[in-house]
Amino acid sequence: MSKTKQGDIRYLTGVGPKFEKRLNKLGINSLKDLFYYFPRTYEDRGDFKEIRFIRPAQEVSIQAEVLDKELIRRGKYKSIFKVTLSDGTDTVVCTWFNQAYLKDVFEKGDKYNLYGELNKESFFKYNKKEIVNPVYEKVEEDSPTIHTGRVVPIYSLTEGITQKRLRYIIYQAIKEHLKKMDDFLPAYIINKYDYIEIRKAILNMHFPQDRKIFIQARNRLAFQELFLFQIAMQKKKKSYQRQKGIQHSAVSDTINHLLQDLHFDLTEAQKNVWGQIKADMENIHPMQRLLQGDVGSGKTVIAVMSLIKTIENGYQGIMMAPTEILAEQHYIKIKKLLKNFNYNIELLIGGIKDSKKEKIMERIKNNEADLIIGTHALFQKDIDYSEIGLIVIDEQHRFGVEQRYELKQKGENPDLLVMTATPIPRSLALTLYGDLDLSIIDEMPPGRKPVITTWRTEKSRSKIYNFVKDKIEEGEQTYVVCPLIEPSDDLEAYSVTEIKEMLSNNYLSEFNIEALHGQLNNNEKNRIMSDFVDQKIDVLISTTVIEVGVDVKTANVMVIENAERFGLAQLHQLRGRVGRSESQAYCIMIANPKTEEAKKRLEVMTETNDGFRISEADLEIRGPGEFFGTKQHGVTDLKVADILKDRKILAKANKEANNLTNDKDWPKKHSDLSNKLKELEIII
Ligand code: ADP
Ligand code: MG
Repeated sequence: MSKTKQGDIRYLTGVGPKFEKRLNKLGINSLKDLFYYFPRTYEDRGDFKEIRFIRPAQEVSIQAEVLDKELIRRGKYKSIFKVTLSDGTDTVVCTWFNQAYLKDVFEKGDKYNLYGELNKESFFKYNKKEIVNPVYEKVEEDSPTIHTGRVVPIYSLTEGITQKRLRYIIYQAIKEHLKKMDDFLPAYIINKYDYIEIRKAILNMHFPQDRKIFIQARNRLAFQELFLFQIAMQKKKKSYQRQKGIQHSAVSDTINHLLQDLHFDLTEAQKNVWGQIKADMENIHPMQRLLQGDVGSGKTVIAVMSLIKTIENGYQGIMMAPTEILAEQHYIKIKKLLKNFNYNIELLIGGIKDSKKEKIMERIKNNEADLIIGTHALFQKDIDYSEIGLIVIDEQHRFGVEQRYELKQKGENPDLLVMTATPIPRSLALTLYGDLDLSIIDEMPPGRKPVITTWRTEKSRSKIYNFVKDKIEEGEQTYVVCPLIEPSDDLEAYSVTEIKEMLSNNYLSEFNIEALHGQLNNNEKNRIMSDFVDQKIDVLISTTVIEVGVDVKTANVMVIENAERFGLAQLHQLRGRVGRSESQAYCIMIANPKTEEAKKRLEVMTETNDGFRISEADLEIRGPGEFFGTKQHGVTDLKVADILKDRKILAKANKEANNLTNDKDWPKKHSDLSNKLKELEIII
């Protein structure tokens, strides 16, 4: 189909300049937009009932002939119009208020389809069958009905647009213009999967002839949506693959050196993933890899091995974390891991004094810093890296897709390793990170026991904290997580302050209790974290600041207050703070859920420790749009496809997009498709 201009829809049957503006409000600016403005839902109005059987409390379809009509005027503007119709089994009266013009619409002997509900009062009080303001449509020999007598599309509307008007416009547009639309899917794909052609698909999305063809239409359109998206991703991916980056050499001796320092062996999954990263780094093309692994699966060691590799090759390594607490934890942990290596490791976060920061920046510029760990502060404009070899981004879900490219600009095609502890269902990973290669650590270090997770109510609080007491006496530490820092008048939830007071006065008065939250200054935060690591603190009460990355092996109990206030992914991340050694760990959620959704989240938590199942459940509960917080990559723009339910179609789309783009000349061979993609590239 030729490109459509802004003004095109104005000239469509039933539109005009005023109505065009209203359509614009729905995002319909062109004929193509109109064709792709798919129904929100459908109503089956195809099942005609005999008038003698219809009763109130249900919308019904009937087909009947006009017997009589009557207009009753009530003053200048008010009127009642009544039509009596019969289908041979009984009669029904249809009534409209203040629509006097209808007297010229209905003619005796005409056949009409009607859709509506019998008026209860007329029926029960006066024993009369009356429908007020039904949907009506005249039945004519040679033209099909579109508002009645069939499965009818129901659209999302805006002010000044009725269902009937929009349905009519779309129907007319399809009738008059759809034939001009070309199918941009390559014929070999249509044939291979037996897809119906585009015009038939669009027609049947709006006005489905039957269920079977409707499903065919939907599948074809879902495929095309995902296919275009996958091509865009693959294109991006393949363009990196053609770029020149840094070719690292093997430094096995140094890596072995680290492995000897560790008190454990790598799991098979870790070894595998390392093999993939090593190969990428030794390749001349820049690495673009997503490393997925559940909390505690051992991603940090892998990151450190990769960083050693780049440093030994004479480059700078960069590691970025989403929060200052996590950046500091990484810094402390990695410094310890690398204590036998003669590396200069720097911490760069927002909270550092300016004078100190300047010195760090000087060292970074002069290539005196080998490894720089930090937060967003790492990509301030005024930082000059001497030569970045590898960027590791931890906990990807906190960063936007754009941010990861921003940081890459700091070097010349450095290798990139993105790590995420929120396991993303494979289907989503393909969609969102289709431009990255995927590595998965799907195995926990040996000896880990699943965290025992329970859900209790307020009533059990004293029992719960007695249990905590026993555990502290056995030498273990506890996290208590609260949704708020300070008490709030508006929210019925516990704050860190309140719980600290309650535990200090009541349940755990003989122990050392501290509170950690985002409002403390950095020194204070650091002091508390290191005291907790050194086991000087028994109970750490905190907000979700401890959600990511914090690793204290001796803390094995977590109590979550008002757990109904946290999201599922968040609860799982929080729980990941315990169970990081061979001791049995516990997660006790105190909660009083008010919604079904909140209840479901708590149930899922008690049922499984498996991060992949958790994130699938999360996705099901929340839907992909909210799952990622922001609108990314137009995933939430998918009009037909559902990335969860259409996994099979997604897999096909991925495979075909991959095959297609493997051939560098594909845009020439499939010009309809590449034109279509150009048209869409704005949003991808
Ligand atoms: P993640 O970053 O994936 O959440 P970490 O890298 O922090 O996990 O690892 C969690 C804990 O497990 C750390 O204390 C780490 O030293 C330890 N660990 C990592 N790999 C292994 C392994 N192969 N065997 C035993 N312990 C391991
Ligand atoms: Mg981690």
